Amino acid sequence: MPLPPQPWPTGATEQLEPLVRRVLAPNPSPFTYTGTQTYLVGAEGELAVIDPGPDDPAHLDALAAAIGGAKVVAIACTHTHRDHSPAAAPLAARTGAPIVGCAPLAIESGEPRVDAPFDKAYAPDRVLADGERISGTGWTLTAVATPGHTSNHLCYALDESGALFTGDHVMGWSTSVVAPPDGNMADYMASLDLLTRRHDRVYWPGHGGPVAEPASFVRAFIAHRRMREAAIVKRLQSGDRSIAEMVPHIYHGLAPTLVPAASLSVLAHLHYLIGQGIVASEGPARLTSAFRLT
Ligand SMILES: [Zn+2]
Repeated sequence: MPLPPQPWPTGATEQLEPLVRRVLAPNPSPFTYTGTQTYLVGAEGELAVIDPGPDDPAHLDALAAAIGGAKVVAIACTHTHRDHSPAAAPLAARTGAPIVGCAPLAIESGEPRVDAPFDKAYAPDRVLADGERISGTGWTLTAVATPGHTSNHLCYALDESGALFTGDHVMGWSTSVVAPPDGNMADYMASLDLLTRRHDRVYWPGHGGPVAEPASFVRAFIAHRRMREAAIVKRLQSGDRSIAEMVPHIYHGLAPTLVPAASLSVLAHLHYLIGQGIVASEGPARLTSAFRLT
């Protein structure tokens, strides 16, 4: 997936709406697009920092400059992939702010992984359940449980403006990676359905530009996943048994570096189809398993 032409606003503080500013971290990649976007919420004295990002000294300095003399009352992570949460601890040390939000994630698995491995050191002071709130002067953030990309994923709704910080659940530049063991396709689809029942005005995602028409954007993502699911069923009908056989037919012209991610995404879909009783695997459903229609 091509990145947009540089320069990107890495390290700069951008005012997005009266209560929201953004600082782009210096970690561009095929998975993070131009980098992780850290959001600062609040205008008068008290701030929340959403997704502090990677533990990178330049990014922490940029955040400190954006915070200035304000008081950080919460450092809130959407999930614990290493491009989102590792700066929480050093930022807490600098500001004295508590780390609140998503739960720690513990996956014991020797299976192959893609995307950014999760942050094992993440240690929140307070875990927010769905619907719980944090607030400061002039703002309130409500946690919206959105498992799927990871089991611990939270979005945050800014009640005063109708904005939703969507982390990696819905991104502005690409569909999310939903790959086992971190990700679960059934949870992800349910979390997309949940967004269609909300009435958010705009999404500020972890990566990529704003989503100005959330409802139609999410419906397109749901349709995209259903299409991929149909393509997998079609490959099984035509005799494919393994993920390695299916991937080149489903993802045309895929860069070799993205084959592992695509393979795990197909596995996530197969887990979902197994859960629906449509597909069966020989033994546990892994990357190397044989699959068939039931
Ligand atoms: Zn992620």
